[in-house]
Parts: sequence; structure tokens; C-alpha cells
Amino acid sequence: MKRKFSDLHCHNHMRAHFQMQEKQKKFTRKGEFSPWTVIASNSKAIEDGKMGASYSQIDLVKCWNANLRLTFNSLYPLEREFVQGMDPKIKEDKWYHFLASVLLGDKGLRRDLLQTAYMRIPDKVVDYFQSPDYDYWESLTREKNFVIKDSGIRIPKNEMHVPGAILGERKAAEKRAKEDPASYVAENACYRIPKNRAELQTSLADDTEITMILTIEGAHALGTDRVKTVQDISDRVQFIKKMWEVPVFFITFAHHFDNRLCGHAHSIPGMGKILMKQRPHMNEGFRRNGHRILREILGLNLAGEPDSSLGYRILIDVKHMAARSRVEYYDLVKMRLAKGDRIPVIASHCGYSGIKTLQDHITFEKKEKDDYTDPSGKFNAWNINLCDEDIEVIVKTRGLIGLSFDQRILGLTSDDIKKDKTREKKRNSIQLIWENLEGFVKSAYSNPNLSAAEKTSIWKCLTIGTDFEGLIDPVNPFPTVLSFDSMANQLVEVIDLARKDPKATHLAHFKSSADVEKWVDDFCFGNAEAFVLENYPE
Ligand SMILES: [Zn+2]
Ligand SMILES: [Zn+2]
Repeated sequence: MKRKFSDLHCHNHMRAHFQMQEKQKKFTRKGEFSPWTVIASNSKAIEDGKMGASYSQIDLVKCWNANLRLTFNSLYPLEREFVQGMDPKIKEDKWYHFLASVLLGDKGLRRDLLQTAYMRIPDKVVDYFQSPDYDYWESLTREKNFVIKDSGIRIPKNEMHVPGAILGERKAAEKRAKEDPASYVAENACYRIPKNRAELQTSLADDTEITMILTIEGAHALGTDRVKTVQDISDRVQFIKKMWEVPVFFITFAHHFDNRLCGHAHSIPGMGKILMKQRPHMNEGFRRNGHRILREILGLNLAGEPDSSLGYRILIDVKHMAARSRVEYYDLVKMRLAKGDRIPVIASHCGYSGIKTLQDHITFEKKEKDDYTDPSGKFNAWNINLCDEDIEVIVKTRGLIGLSFDQRILGLTSDDIKKDKTREKKRNSIQLIWENLEGFVKSAYSNPNLSAAEKTSIWKCLTIGTDFEGLIDPVNPFPTVLSFDSMANQLVEVIDLARKDPKATHLAHFKSSADVEKWVDDFCFGNAEAFVLENYPE
């Protein structure tokens, strides 16, 4: 049986939505207004850039062809800080600066990568993001409507859009599409966003459709920057729970900038203009209003007790939440756990930090320069990653960790990049993925606060959470969802070799290659499937 895949955090529709959201009528007329539409590049050079011949990382067509059958698709109204202060008249300025800061820090420019990302968002849309008309809440609603549009509909074949192309370029793009059908063509394909748990079960049992779970990245999406009172934010949470056609499974509470509710973890490398904008409330704790909104998202009242009038429980994803804020969130989680109410902690697209406690992360904040690693030199030790204390709470609440596919998050340093140029066994490979997975496992196994059964349950808490289409620079051999199968095969090989070391007691339960295969299946699909089945709203 062909291996199935899941992704706990990615943005499947992002590219299509960015291209089309401002011109819905035009694209509807052409029959292209759909999350299935592939946005193809008008230039071969760009497609052949850093991210390989494949232009997008995880659009629905690629998901379909990669046998990805469960996706946690994240809605994300782009934060305006990224585009503020950039001159719309200077074409190069906008995304050039944005991407230079986000992706490259103050290190040399990687032109290929830059251009690939530049193509993602048309100038007109950038102008719109800069204008006073741009409202996160409206944008979130539009994005949700776009994504649910074709849910449950089987399409004979997807459309392809080549932005700004003249006829010759379009012809060339069509030729490229013919040569690479896995990247451009899905036939007789379907995705479905389940309305409830019963529909989820049916959908997961049906391999001829992609089960799509909706999530939101950043509580700023509620429009926290423009509302008059906290009551308005509260009303919007209820609006999502009571009026949206489908449930939201989790919210990644924080993101890159101040959301007026909690602190966000330092995420942007280098000293660019954007880093300056990231400073307000960075690495801080919760604000008073933040506590209230957090509780209401979880369906808890002022006394911290479950209250059905607050609607179903939307889970919280702690990725991007500052260590100081996580301390406060975990206090609530532990208080509820002691009362028999388990709130599974999700960390949807993370690496291991190699740090012991959240307090250590707080103490070491000032050290968070580019290439800052834990003492082993292996892991990215910024507080955006997970420390032993995070892992303990995740295990105890039977939560879920999505492993990010971003090189930097996984601890690749500029020194590694230099050494990889000449060394045979490159770190920018399956090694980076396995080191982080093993980091999580060893952390649980060496934690005296976890019982023997809890220690081994860490294997159930691990899954793929790439952040594809989230402006990331993926681990070299795995640039898109189409490389998942090769990733899984390589992972089997690496673990199968590692388990033969008698000192590797944390791998002792793998008695054969078949045992390893079975776990890799769980990592790729089974763990995420079991988790969503258990925790999806009724
Ligand atoms: Zn993110
Ligand atoms: Zn993301």
C-alpha cells in the first residue's frame, strides 16, 4: 500500500489566494477562482531556482499527487508590518526588502530563492496590503470563503494560471506543465473540510479525497489591532464558532508581530527593518485581554471552568508564542489537567531547542543572534523552538508536535552551510530531520517528571508540520510535498541504522526494519490522524 501523508501546518491555498483575492470577478469569469488553481511561473529560470523545478511547495495539486490525504491548512492574513514603510513606486523595494530580511537576515542574498518568493504575490496585492483598507478580519473571512468554496466537490481537472504572461510565456508554461504533470495536473480530485467528527471519520476512511482541517495562524486575524474593545474580539471568536460553516481545529495564537494579546517569540533573523517592527511586546507575557480571549477560544469562563455557551473548544498551538507567555498558558493547562480536563498542547511547526526550561529560554533571550545554538551545537536554541519543559507538557496532555521543514528552525548554521560544500555526508539532509526528531525523543526519555509509559508515548506525539508556503527555506533534498515519499524512505534507513547501536536504548523497541517502517508511517500520517479523530469537535 502506498504511504499516506499528513501536514500539521502548511498553507495550501496561499499562493492562489494571494494572486486572486483582489480580482475575484475576473478569475471567476475565467473559471479559475478555486483553491485548486496552480499558479505557474512565467519564467523557467524561476522554476529552476533554489526550490527546484517545482514552483510551489504544497498547493493542492501537489498534495493530491503526493498522496497527502490529511492537511491542516492554515488561514493567515499577512501581517501589515511586513509591507509597511516600503515604497510601492519602487518595484524592487517591496518584496526585496521583505524577503531579504525574513529569509536571509543580513547575510548574502540568495537571488534565486528571493525571486521565487517574489513571484508569489502580485504588486497590486502588495499595494492593497499597504492601504488603510486592509483589515485582517475581513481578509480572514475572504480567505475562509475561498478555501471552503470547493470543499466536497470533485473536479475533473484543475486550472493553471500564469501571472502576467504574454502568449509565448504561457505556451512555454503549458509545455513545462505537460512535462511535469505531478506538479501541475490533478484529475478527478477532491478535498473536503469536515463539518463535524462523523464527517471527519468518513472522509479519512476515503482515500480518494484529501481531508482538510482548517486552522488559523495568528490571533491578529481577529482584527485585534482595530477593534474598539475586547468585547469585539470576544464576539468574533463566537462568530467563528457559531456562524462559520466548518470548525476551526486550532489557532496558532501568536505570530511574528504584536497581537495585543500575548508575547510572540523572536522569529526574524538579522537586523533588517522588519526586526525593528518585531520588537514591541516580543518575548513578553500575556496581556489581560489575552487571558480572556485565550480562555474563550478554549471554551472556558472567567472562573476557568468549561462553559458550553462559549461554544466548542478550539485548541491552541503554541508555535510562535514567547517562552514567557507559554509559562502562563501552561499554568492554565496544568490547572485544567488536575481537574481531569485535558487540553492537548499543539506545537505545529517546530524544531527542538536543546534547552531545558522555559526560564532558561527567558534568561538566554539576549543570546538569540543568528546561528545561536544549544551547547551541543546541533539545535536552534531560540525560544521559538521547543525546550524540554514544552515537550513534557505536550506528552502529559497527549498533544502533538509538527516537525518544521525549515533549515534554520532545524538548526542549520552558516558554518554547516560552509562545511556542507565539501563534506560527503551533508547535514542539510535527512540528518537534520532525524536529529531533531531524536532530540524530542531523548528529551522525553531523560525527563524524570515523566513515567515510563509517558516517555514512550513521545513517539505518538510526532508528525510532519512543514510550514510549506509559509516563506520557508526547506531542507535541501525535500523542497516540496512531492519529496515526502523519498523523505520517509530515507528516514526508515537512518533509524534502522541508528537502532543497531546498543547504546541507543531509546530505540530498543524497534526490533526490525518493519517496526521502523511502521513508526515512520505513524510519523507521516497515523499520529496526526489519531489525534484529529480524538480531538475534532463533535
Ligand atoms: Zn509560523
Ligand atoms: Zn505558517
